[in-house]
Amino acid sequence: MVNWRWLLRMSNRSFLAFVFFFCLSFTCLYFIYVAPGLANTYYFMVQARGIMLRDNVRTIGHMLRLYTNKNSTVNGTDYPDGSNSSEYMVQPTLYLPENFTYAQNLPCPERLPSMKGSMEVNMTEIPLEELEVKFSMMYGVKFGGHWKPKDCRPRWKVAILIPFRNRHEHLPILFQHLIPMLQRQRLQFAFYVIEQSGTQPFNRAMLFNVGFVEAMKDLDWDCFIFHDVDHIPENDRNYYGCGQMPRHFAAKLDKYMYILPYNEFFGGVSGLTAEQFRKINGFPNAFWGWGGEDDDLWNRVHYAGFNVTRPEGEIGRYQSIPHHHRGEVQFLGRYKLLRYSKERQHLDGLNNLHYNPLVSLSSLYKNVTVDLSPELAPITDY
Ligand code: BGC
Repeated sequence: MVNWRWLLRMSNRSFLAFVFFFCLSFTCLYFIYVAPGLANTYYFMVQARGIMLRDNVRTIGHMLRLYTNKNSTVNGTDYPDGSNSSEYMVQPTLYLPENFTYAQNLPCPERLPSMKGSMEVNMTEIPLEELEVKFSMMYGVKFGGHWKPKDCRPRWKVAILIPFRNRHEHLPILFQHLIPMLQRQRLQFAFYVIEQSGTQPFNRAMLFNVGFVEAMKDLDWDCFIFHDVDHIPENDRNYYGCGQMPRHFAAKLDKYMYILPYNEFFGGVSGLTAEQFRKINGFPNAFWGWGGEDDDLWNRVHYAGFNVTRPEGEIGRYQSIPHHHRGEVQFLGRYKLLRYSKERQHLDGLNNLHYNPLVSLSSLYKNVTVDLSPELAPITDY
């Protein structure tokens, strides 16, 4: 039995201190477990501030040295110490001139004059119905969110997959930015919103696998973009086509002070050709809750012999839509699973996926609702 007497014998001050520390640890645990996005964002933000501070100190030091020794640079280059990285060496990329003429039978170029660079981001909530009218009447988007250019042959047929739960106000904001951008990039595209019903923790990765299989039933898409609903691109030169290698589009996020949080970061928005996605056996299905599935995708891509490319300079900038929601619960088992990425790659993914979809079409997208549970993606022991 619990002996409560020692509690009663405590002085008031010790009792208050005990209550204070108990509440403090409880709050910390709450934030780490229930709102992991917040804890994580905060951690990477502090890290980014540290990096920025270090870079500023370096630059000031370098300038002082230059000032005192006018004719020579410290490391024999034009760059500050140790910073002659690709970031500083970004070459201006040439885009086609305004008077470029398109030809219906030729592939649309990748660097079009319509792609102007930095875009204005507007986070104001807007009713979906308003956008449906605008994009179908004025922008020629077909029912289900399909569009393709008429003045040239689209280089890529791109399916945009958006995993979803309870973010109805985010979807129109995303469409409002993405549709005009993809049209300026002259890509053929359609949107698939894969919505998780039921009470299981959110499984972003499994939703992407479902989206891939469902989208392939419509059309032989050759490129897939795996897109978080709350990530808004800031630059229309961030070309949503695929390439020889898988691509990480969301390289610079405002929530991480526009600094890549770690080299293996593959979250937010990524893209693979259908062939690459099949080769890596898709996303893992075993990540229930927030975190880790993008790290596992990174491992899969590398085990399959690929590298990841990213947009250069400021092109990969994104803003995240502020949430009114509580985050998804954190997946605490992710570190253990990540240790066995290689062993799991060919046991868990597209090849052990089962589900029962409820499909409906609306003006701007196809909705695929699925009630997911671990039994739907059984995995034999490894
Ligand atoms: C998680 C990833 C997440 C990243 C950035 C990592 O700790 O495992 O899933 O994308 O943090 O938030």
